[in-house]
Amino acid sequence: MTQATERPQLAHLTAILDELRANGTHFNLRILDDQQAPVCHYDGKQVINLASNNYLGLANHPKLIEAALAATRAFGVGSGAVRTIAGTMRIHMDLEEKIARFKNVEACVVFQSGFTANAGTVSSILGKDDFILSDELNHASIIDGARLSRAKIKVFRHKDAAHCEELLQEVANEPGRKLVITDGVFSMDGDIGPVDKLAALAEKYGAIMMVDDAHASGVLGRNGRGSVDHFGMHGKVDVQVGTLSKAIGALGGYVCGSKDLIDYLYHRARPFLFSTSHPPSVAATCIAAFDILEREPDRIQRLWDNTHYFQGELKRAGFNVGGITTPATQTPITPLIVGESRKAMEFSRALFDEGVLGTGIAFPTVPEGKARIRLMLTSEHTKAQLDEALETIERVAKRMGMLEAVS
Ligand SMILES: *Cc1c(COP(=O)(O)O)cnc(C)c1O
Repeated sequence: MTQATERPQLAHLTAILDELRANGTHFNLRILDDQQAPVCHYDGKQVINLASNNYLGLANHPKLIEAALAATRAFGVGSGAVRTIAGTMRIHMDLEEKIARFKNVEACVVFQSGFTANAGTVSSILGKDDFILSDELNHASIIDGARLSRAKIKVFRHKDAAHCEELLQEVANEPGRKLVITDGVFSMDGDIGPVDKLAALAEKYGAIMMVDDAHASGVLGRNGRGSVDHFGMHGKVDVQVGTLSKAIGALGGYVCGSKDLIDYLYHRARPFLFSTSHPPSVAATCIAAFDILEREPDRIQRLWDNTHYFQGELKRAGFNVGGITTPATQTPITPLIVGESRKAMEFSRALFDEGVLGTGIAFPTVPEGKARIRLMLTSEHTKAQLDEALETIERVAKRMGMLEAVS
């Protein structure tokens, strides 16, 4: 026995893991042996990969790889410091300027991840006398940022602008500032946040409007400019967060807005101040990715063509891909609603054994009774790969007696 298991200090963790094993939701990390590609190997097994956020195939685009290598040769592998000490390289500024131009905003700041962009921003722009009005399905990084801010958190029902307005009215006479915040695309259901309605409400009540476009960046709007562009709400959203880790293919998060917002975050956002900046290769990769979004919009078209085809076929086969007890997807995020957590995890494992990787997602990531397999489309899947995956999914679901249960 190892020392750790003999010592009683962490026994409560072992007890919780035992509980997860008992209810079938414990998992081992799947290990990718090669590249994040439509067909690749996990744990030594070849699978059709329907689990990655590499929407546009940029994680292994030759131009991005070249950009990373060239930047590494020119500038080294690390930035050596946090941005505010000595770790702001020219290439970090080039990326921020590139994103600001792309998003048509005054300024942009890049964080180490989308998570730190959200958490660092929400927690620094509000304080304990303020109010945060947040969609009930907003991402964990928004929730953590809200908690860190110590502002009062008011949660509105999913995508329910009327409920958000009720809450705004409740606090209208309070002296604190108000922030309305929504995901642009919700990561577990794939539906689109009502950015237009919420931004109009924010305007009406003098609230700050913030959108987290992690799954909308590179997916929604012209050339993948995101949900603000999708809804034509330019100038109406004060804080736009995006990620560089999903469609952009590398790693990072960014905040777009006014010059003063960005300057303020340079001075107060704690992950910016207290955590080292990206390696130059990451910044160079992302610059190349935005070039490709501008020059190769056909990638986004292929992503949407694959999405419509694949989701149409799943519905035809009788699957619940959302829209019954959960929101209907409107994007490449494809939830296959199963219900019971154990069943969803079993389904995911059975699919893997038959050569399809789809993520099993259970409580507490999604509500109890709404466990699911989440399937992600990319521009790079071929029709033959999608057809093979569809055939496998249908066969396994029938064998497990699930197709009747979920339809
Ligand atoms: C993935 C995700 C994030 C975090 O982005 P990372 O760059 O992976 O840290 C934030 N918000 C939403 C809605 C996400 O889906």
